[in-house]
Amino acid sequence: LSQLFRPLDLLGMVYRTIRQGLIDMEAMYKLIDTEAEIADAPGAPALKVKAGEVRFDHVRFGYDPDREILHDVSFTVPAGKTLAIVGPSGAGKSTIARTLFRFYDIQSGRILIDGQDIAEVTQSSLRAAIGIVPQDMVLFNDTVGYNIGYGRAGASQQEIEAAAKAASIHDFIMRMPQGYDTRVGERGLKLSGGEKQRVAIARTLLKDPPVLVLDEATSALDSRTETEIQDVLRSISRKRTTLVVAHRLSTVVDADEIIVLDQGRIVERGRHADLVRSNGLYATMWARQATEREDMPVEPVIEDDF
Ligand code: ADP
Ligand code: MG
Repeated sequence: LSQLFRPLDLLGMVYRTIRQGLIDMEAMYKLIDTEAEIADAPGAPALKVKAGEVRFDHVRFGYDPDREILHDVSFTVPAGKTLAIVGPSGAGKSTIARTLFRFYDIQSGRILIDGQDIAEVTQSSLRAAIGIVPQDMVLFNDTVGYNIGYGRAGASQQEIEAAAKAASIHDFIMRMPQGYDTRVGERGLKLSGGEKQRVAIARTLLKDPPVLVLDEATSALDSRTETEIQDVLRSISRKRTTLVVAHRLSTVVDADEIIVLDQGRIVERGRHADLVRSNGLYATMWARQATEREDMPVEPVIEDDF
């Protein structure tokens, strides 16, 4: 019988969470397959973000407590700096992003934003402070304007258009028959991966969070789209603390620190040039990627991330 009730519980939880305006849509989709309900500590205060430093302090986490995925992960991203997370598929890169957003509670260690443990502040204040640009965004079956405006309740049409311009998607929207009122999604216009990502970027610009999490696409966008998106991402991450799951050489070369994750452990860390020189996993990965770029036809890689 409990089997029967569980989906209802989940639905109830998702409904309550939406009703309370607690979460982003990105969060909602993941909550649907999150089993344990994450609760605010009694009397939890709101997170107060000053500079936006993000710190993982000896973090251990497993989706199943018997199978640890992140093993003693520690790093600090100083306010306004960019950390690139690289490593093979399944290494735990997206898991780091999910634990920062507190989709799951960690088993031990602490995750801190400006010195405040994220488990001890309200989830709504935590999620308001973090913007996520996932590699594959799920859009609402609603207008493109709604999908962008979702970034901030009460945003005006001008603000929505300004965000769309900054994300290089305004001109595309204006070419559609009903402009910002054009419906997208299952029953409306199908957007390409690059267009969806730009909608996600516009939404994030509107939200204007101090902390940004980017999950770069592993698949090949056409090279013009790719360059445009890279430029926009670089400019939105400039003044914000940014964690980026990086697949592009240009991103990691510019990062303030790179951590190389392998089977849930940080096996190397440093800046690009240092890591190349040290001839470890990072150097091997980038050497292989360089050969693939030259020799291989470009195949889209589908990785279910975030
Ligand atoms: P990456 O983003 O580096 O490819 P992930 O963080 O997605 O890796 O996954 C790390 C490990 O956690 C993998 O072994 C994956 O199978 C496992 N994992 C990911 N999501 C879940 C989940 N919801 N439940 C159980 N295990 C998961
Ligand atoms: Mg991933």
